[in-house]
Amino acid sequence: MTDTPKRVLLAKPRGYCAGVDRAVQTVEEALKLYGPPIYVRKEIVHNRHVVATLQAKGAVFVEENEEVPEGSIVVFSAHGVAPEVHEQARARSLKAIDATCPLVTKVHQEARRFAAADYDILLIGHEGHEEVIGTTGEAPANIQLVDGPDAVDKVTVRDPSKVVWLSQTTLSVDETLETVDRLKRKLPLLVSPPSDDICYATSNRQDAVKTIAPSCDVVIVVGSQNSSNSQRLREVAVDAGARAAYLVDYASEIRDEWLEGASTVGLTSGASVPDELVMEVLDLLTERGFGEVAEVSTADEKLTFSLPQELKRDMKAAKATRAGEAAALAAHPLS
Ligand code: SF4
Repeated sequence: MTDTPKRVLLAKPRGYCAGVDRAVQTVEEALKLYGPPIYVRKEIVHNRHVVATLQAKGAVFVEENEEVPEGSIVVFSAHGVAPEVHEQARARSLKAIDATCPLVTKVHQEARRFAAADYDILLIGHEGHEEVIGTTGEAPANIQLVDGPDAVDKVTVRDPSKVVWLSQTTLSVDETLETVDRLKRKLPLLVSPPSDDICYATSNRQDAVKTIAPSCDVVIVVGSQNSSNSQRLREVAVDAGARAAYLVDYASEIRDEWLEGASTVGLTSGASVPDELVMEVLDLLTERGFGEVAEVSTADEKLTFSLPQELKRDMKAAKATRAGEAAALAAHPLS
């Protein structure tokens, strides 16, 4: 009798997106430039490992600006903040570096624009998520949250001909379409956002996991419990046909019973997960006999974002100062 071959289908794209990469680099560069401590309001991205790594380098994570000593440097997370958070920072004379993902900023701009035209804005998203709190803060009087298809029944608007829907960037694409369908049945004149609010990274990771899941007995998603896009990957994997899907921060959390009887394991990771954590899961799967690995690629991602202007400006000034000091030293060498 021969054993069934055991294999891993590794989804691509997976892991870091452009917004997370920029946010993590922002904290790292700020630590190098200004020295620790650098205060970070909320988790810079929703990943335990990333947060712990930055903490070890001197980042101090706080919940609110009031925990930051006056005059200190504070970085705002990739999920975005309401305008009042910027105001609070100014009031405490904090030097704020805004690492909000530009794709979240785009949704904030849409919210401001439609609110200025006095639209009711139906924001599809998860109650309490930092991104939703930040976007709602742009126009609290105009925005109402729609937390999934079943919440549509509760929606009431002032003028059905002046309503737009926007969304959190990290939702399930399919569930959001369902919510929008139900909203459109209720409000036929509902206006759609000028471009997709669910970001490219969320859509691409969901497409990749949908492709592998039907062939998988089990899908492992590397990501933290509070990561919206990672949670959605786990749900999408099950909806697309995987027998089971689990979300883990680390390889050590994988239980042997999850792999019992499995011949194909799918593997992916959320947009805030460094690939080294996925490689550790691959190593563990290899130890458990899943030696064959096939990477299944459904998209090629090339997008990058430049660092926040306020940080780039200070980095440039520091470089100019160093160059000036080097030139002065060359002109007048120390004897
Ligand atoms: S998941 Fe999307 S919106 Fe969020 S940081 Fe990444 S690119 Fe930006």
